[in-house]
Amino acid sequence: MTARPDPTALAGGVAGPAALRPLVETVLTALADGAAARGGPVAAGRPDELAAGVRKVLDGASADPLSELTRLLAEGAADPADPACAAHLHCPPLAVAVAADLAVSALNPSLDSWDQAPAATVLETELIGELAELVGYPRETAAGVLTSGGTESNLLALLLARDTVLAADGRRVELDGVDPARRPRLFASAAAHFSVQRAAAVLGLGERAVVPVPVDGAQRMDLRALAAALAAARRAGETPVAVVATAGTTDTGAIDPLPACADLAAEHGAWLHVDAAYGGGALLSDRLAPLLAGVERADSIALDWHKLGWQPVAAGVFLARREQSYASLARRAAYLNPADDEAAGYPSLLGRSLRTTRRADAFPIAVTLRTVGRAGLGRLVERCHELAGYAARRIRSHPELELWGDPALTTVLFRLRGLDDAQHARLRRRLLATGRAVLGRAEVGGAEVGRAEVGGAGLPPLTTWLKLTVLNPHATESDLDRLLAEVLRTAHESG
Ligand SMILES: *Cc1c(COP(=O)(O)O)cnc(C)c1O
Repeated sequence: MTARPDPTALAGGVAGPAALRPLVETVLTALADGAAARGGPVAAGRPDELAAGVRKVLDGASADPLSELTRLLAEGAADPADPACAAHLHCPPLAVAVAADLAVSALNPSLDSWDQAPAATVLETELIGELAELVGYPRETAAGVLTSGGTESNLLALLLARDTVLAADGRRVELDGVDPARRPRLFASAAAHFSVQRAAAVLGLGERAVVPVPVDGAQRMDLRALAAALAAARRAGETPVAVVATAGTTDTGAIDPLPACADLAAEHGAWLHVDAAYGGGALLSDRLAPLLAGVERADSIALDWHKLGWQPVAAGVFLARREQSYASLARRAAYLNPADDEAAGYPSLLGRSLRTTRRADAFPIAVTLRTVGRAGLGRLVERCHELAGYAARRIRSHPELELWGDPALTTVLFRLRGLDDAQHARLRRRLLATGRAVLGRAEVGGAEVGRAEVGGAGLPPLTTWLKLTVLNPHATESDLDRLLAEVLRTAHESG
């Protein structure tokens, strides 16, 4: 006879793991059962049917809610570990990273003060140093922090850019607000992530402070247009605060010409931020790293290890080239980082983040880097890149399919000949509803159209493309063949 386990048992301490072990066993069994019940990349059915199923379990009586709800979560998941779940930059996490994440959850360190996270504070600091070296920053003078992702990293970058570039006469922008007479402007390509505009709004600059720079036919920032926009802003008495270059756009993986962006930013006294949330993964591979040549010239960089890094969410990384540029974020809170504690050798990462309580998201990354290694991770990135190239070749040679262009990273855009935009949108929903495939969607100018329009008047007309984002390094060529065949079959069925 076994005693009923105490549902209020704690996860930490010497006794915690013993309380946790059977619960983890329950979770693992339910995960396997749920995945088997799903039997594919995503649960089939309409949203209302799924919602009714979830509510039924939530409202019903259950002898083992952990088991039942975990099974529900898994059965109703869009699981990126299935090769046919390939819509977004939504990666299947490595088992070793998830196991490391369990340790983080059990111990619950919080990175806002040393006395909540002694080893975790050192681990994050060391990891930031390693990642600074990975991007080509001098380790001793760089600084950074783990973030919730590219969105928060872009906000931090533009905050530091604002406070560095607009600081004048010893006045601190973060305390006094932005002097409207300076008319700050940010420059990002039309294909940059929407979080740039959001950050501008949050920072009090306004979304319209972001000047959208046209892109070329391959969705890269058009340099002549950037040069012209910067010069025009200066002539108009505006202040170019930052150029945001994207290394791997979300829609197509396009990489802006980084060295030339760095030259132009320097010429106009602007901060250069490189949003490498997606393309930063290329730095793990010796073969692909040259795609990001020049990234080390950036003042700040965003990386997302929950994309091409196979970490559980959240694993964003923000890096600043110079530790001093963090000055405006420094805060002294007597209960967290009193000056005499710091003088006595107790460091604090409070001033690295806009957040206060903060998880030890560095830990799974540090474990992964030591288990799989940079070279091992690089091979996973290369494999996804190869698979995307394979899918692109298959699409190009198929008479019913049209390829947008060669994949820059691991994203492949394609269309079915003879289907219009609305039919592509419906086809994507049909694949989702049948549970056969989770594909993404992008609205971009056709590559040919875009090329013709470079430097021209209007932007190229947008077309709806289906998007295949390969982030599963264990997918095979035949998985991709099957996926393309499912897309065609579903299109033929729908007539
Ligand atoms: C994914 C992405 C972001 C947003 O990152 P989150 O981790 O979702 O916050 C920003 N920029 C680019 C280029 C991205 O691909």
